[in-house]
Amino acid sequence: VGSSIDFAPFEFQDEGQAEYQGFDMDLIRAIGKEMGYEVEIQNIGFDGLIPAMQAKNIDVIISGMTINDERKENVLFSDPYYQSGLTMVVRSDEQAIKSFQDLKGHKVAVQIGTTSAEAVKKLGGVEVKELNTPADCFMELKGNGVDAVVNDRPVNDYYITKSGETGVKALEEKLTAEDYGIAMAKDNTELQSKINEALKKLKENGEYDKIYAKWFGGQK
Ligand code: GLN
Repeated sequence: VGSSIDFAPFEFQDEGQAEYQGFDMDLIRAIGKEMGYEVEIQNIGFDGLIPAMQAKNIDVIISGMTINDERKENVLFSDPYYQSGLTMVVRSDEQAIKSFQDLKGHKVAVQIGTTSAEAVKKLGGVEVKELNTPADCFMELKGNGVDAVVNDRPVNDYYITKSGETGVKALEEKLTAEDYGIAMAKDNTELQSKINEALKKLKENGEYDKIYAKWFGGQK
C-alpha cells in the first residue's frame, strides 16, 4: 500500500515512532485483516502515488485521495470512505481574505498534485505556489511567503486544533465537497470488489465507527 505520510490525521508519523498512524492507516490495516492480508505501507510523495501503482510498485493507494474523473482514467476507486472538502487557512490577523473570491491577486500555497492545486488554479488570477507537503504550505504561510493555504478541511482543522498552532486560522467556507476513495490498478476489479466488501463489513460491524471516533470524535 502506498501513502503520502504527510497528512494528519489520515497518515502521519510522530517523531521517534516507527509506525505510521492515522485514520487511513487504521482503516487499511482493518481492511487487510478482513481480507486475510498483512498490510505493508510505503511512504511515497502524493504526486508519485499513481505513477508508483502504474509501475506496479504498490497495489493499493490510501492517502486521503479524492475520487474524481481525471484520476478514474488511470485507477479504480473503492466506494467512498470519507466525506471531505477544501477550506483555507490564513494568518490570524488577515483582513483582506475572508472568502475564496478574495484570493484573486494573492499568493496561495497548495500541495502539488492535489485537488486543491487544481481548484485554486481554476479560480483564476491567483498566484499559486505548489509545494511538496501541507507542512511546507503552512510554513510558507507563517513565513509570509504566501497569504493563504488551500487544503483538505479535516487536515486544516487538525493542524490548527491538535498541533496547538497559533497565528493562523481556518475559515469556514468550503470551496468543494469531495469523497475519499482507496485506489487500485485500472484492471484490478477483483481487488476492488474485495476491498468494497471488506469496507462494507467494517461499516456493518462497528469497526469503521470505532476508527472514525478515534480520530474525529463521535459525530460524522
Ligand atoms: N484530497 C486531496 C486530493 O486528493 C489531497 C490529498 C492529499 O494531499 N493527501 O488531491
